[in-house]
Amino acid sequence: MRTIAILGATGSIGTQALDIVRRHPDQFRAGCLTAHGSSEKLFELVREFRPDVAALVDEPEAIPRDLRFCQWVFGPDSTVRALKASKAQDALCAIVGIAGLDAVWTALDVCERVLLANKEALVTGGDLVMTKAAEKGIPMLPVDSEHSAIFQCLQARQGNPVRRLLLTCSGGALRSWKKEDIYNATVKDVLAHPTWNMGGKITVDCASMVNKGLEVIEAHHLFNMPAGKIDVVVHPQSIVHSMIEFEDGAVLAQLGNPDMRGPIGYAMGYPARVPYDAKPLDFAALGHLDFAAPDAERFPALPMAVEALKAGGSAPVVLNGANEAAVGAFLREQIPFGRIPEIIREALNAIPVTPITCIADVYEADAKSRSVALRKLGMRNEE
Ligand code: NDP
Ligand code: MG
Repeated sequence: MRTIAILGATGSIGTQALDIVRRHPDQFRAGCLTAHGSSEKLFELVREFRPDVAALVDEPEAIPRDLRFCQWVFGPDSTVRALKASKAQDALCAIVGIAGLDAVWTALDVCERVLLANKEALVTGGDLVMTKAAEKGIPMLPVDSEHSAIFQCLQARQGNPVRRLLLTCSGGALRSWKKEDIYNATVKDVLAHPTWNMGGKITVDCASMVNKGLEVIEAHHLFNMPAGKIDVVVHPQSIVHSMIEFEDGAVLAQLGNPDMRGPIGYAMGYPARVPYDAKPLDFAALGHLDFAAPDAERFPALPMAVEALKAGGSAPVVLNGANEAAVGAFLREQIPFGRIPEIIREALNAIPVTPITCIADVYEADAKSRSVALRKLGMRNEE
């Protein structure tokens, strides 16, 4: 039996993780559930899963009488305080954005294992987080489907060097759109992801291919691979979740129907595989699997992310901060979709690369990037 803190419990990843807990009450217990402002949703989850600690960033007017059995924590640092109080063995870090970095950092101090969905924590604090994890001997188990696929393939490595990582990419909702149409795609167009059902921010990132750029950076940190050995291939069906290539040219791939409970469950149960009602792959019905090169002309954010990774230091933090600011503005329908990559480019050009030596450096670079991005967007703050 493992006790898990589910940080971002009301989100897409959080609720799917809880579905696995629900199916295997003999193996998993949710010791801590946290959210930002979705109090009604969290109340329901606390009622069902009965954690020791629950947290909300936004304090609700009242806690229902029947939910006062657990410890409640509120405020901007509530996730971190709840995680510490819970004494959970594992932390599933499923908060979206750099807002989840503190939780990942704390999980490395107080938990035995980190189950990582929150890719922005690695994009921004990757060197610091991975160094701390290595020093403390804490496994970082990937939840992102591509990274889980690579991690699963690596189990067969037997000490052999890996020549290349191949990240697959659905191409997002605008995969086959013309360049001029992409610029003015609406929120509704962008949120209609063809294969995965996810939170709003990551769905926008998929459509702009920023997500794949963030994932290249995430893969660099998780698997200690240089940017030049990580390739992206567009694969619209999302059946091949990613691949590794050895020096003899052999490629190992991990396949399955697109269902995040696969990679979430693999991280939760690792090294054991946790059954859920996974639909078996029907190759005959699939007929064919398609692959194509990413189109840098229509989706310029992917090469920008690779460039930021190569530049190092604060560059990935700047890329991420500008993207978070721009995606927020797009979702509030304040800017056209095509402004997102432009804003990232403008922030990268405007802010010189500085070294990142501590978490405070990360937040400084992030604040600088957001302020440049918002100024270019003609806004003073995100509200
Ligand atoms: P969602 O937006 O669906 O959920 C985010 C969760 O985090 C919610 O519980 C939300 O609470 C909470 N949250 C948001 N902001 C804060 C904050 N500032 N402080 C504390 N809690 C906060 O996101 P997803 O589940 O889609 O994604 C989570 C992470 O996992 C992201 O980093 C994403 O890139 C990654 N990921 C997601 C995949 C997916 O399939 N969804 C696939 C691969 C990676 P509330 O509901 O109250 O707002
Ligand atoms: Mg992914």
